[in-house]
Amino acid sequence: MAAEPERAREAECGGERDGGVAPSERTRVRRAPQRARYDRETVEAILDEGVFAHVGFAVEGRPFVIPMVYGRRGDVLYLHGSPASRLLRAGRDGVELCLTVTHLDGIVLARSAFHTSVNYRSVVLFARAVPVDDAAEKLEALRAVVDHAVPGRWSGVRGPDETEFRRTLVLKVPISEASAKVRTGPPVDDESDMTSDAWAGVIPVQLAYGEPLPDPQLRAGIEPTPDVAGYRGPGSPA
Ligand SMILES: Cc1cc2nc3c(=O)[nH]c(=O)nc-3n(C[C@H](O)[C@H](O)[C@H](O)COP(=O)(O)OP(=O)(O)OC[C@H]3O[C@@H](n4cnc5c(N)ncnc54)[C@H](O)[C@@H]3O)c2cc1C
Repeated sequence: MAAEPERAREAECGGERDGGVAPSERTRVRRAPQRARYDRETVEAILDEGVFAHVGFAVEGRPFVIPMVYGRRGDVLYLHGSPASRLLRAGRDGVELCLTVTHLDGIVLARSAFHTSVNYRSVVLFARAVPVDDAAEKLEALRAVVDHAVPGRWSGVRGPDETEFRRTLVLKVPISEASAKVRTGPPVDDESDMTSDAWAGVIPVQLAYGEPLPDPQLRAGIEPTPDVAGYRGPGSPA
């Protein structure tokens, strides 16, 4: 796959900075910087469409990358799980986290092996997390996580009891040092390859949500609520 060479025919446009998450030294996209975005709207749209994040952190000099679901409220993400989770313990103890959320939008088939690529929208977010101890905020964070899976789901299920609540560690992750990167469009081939016989173009890729399958132990007569029955992923009509 092409290592994202900068192409003369691609416009230099840089990232928007107003009202965004201004690039820091480490969030500044170096390769193909015209694909970088630093505006909050783009970053939040990619996060909201994501189902889970890959969360990177280092413990005892070793890197780990662990997938985790999340929820967003305003300019923070919430992670939750067992207090025994290495990732959550590390985050609670101040170890810096690096979260990535990626949407694969297409396989980009160029006329050369070198320029074969992918279309995508991705976010990289660096943060130190803060444990959420305030009971009201913790409950709201858990609601954010559940409603991120399917909007409105929280109000249709039993909330956490005291033991479940106590046994759940919630981390708050500020969305303040982040970058987005977006590639769209056809392959970017070398001029000298344009007479090639190789087919070139894009195979679109989508995450597909199917019809809800009832739990085999579901009591008879219970139908999914419309927000579940019609759910086909973030942004889809319910
Ligand atoms: C699904 C997918 C597949 C990819 N495959 C390849 C591949 O095979 N080869 C390749 O060279 N590149 C690939 N990329 C692009 C890759 O993610 C990097 O953008 C690229 O390696 C350039 O990194 P860099 O050295 O410029 O930046 P780095 O020095 O690695 O990063 C600097 C900063 O830029 C930001 N940044 C870098 N990449 C991204 C990103 N994708 N999204 C948001 N912020 C980012 C981060 O804040 C990072 O800290 C792929 C991207 C995606 C989403």
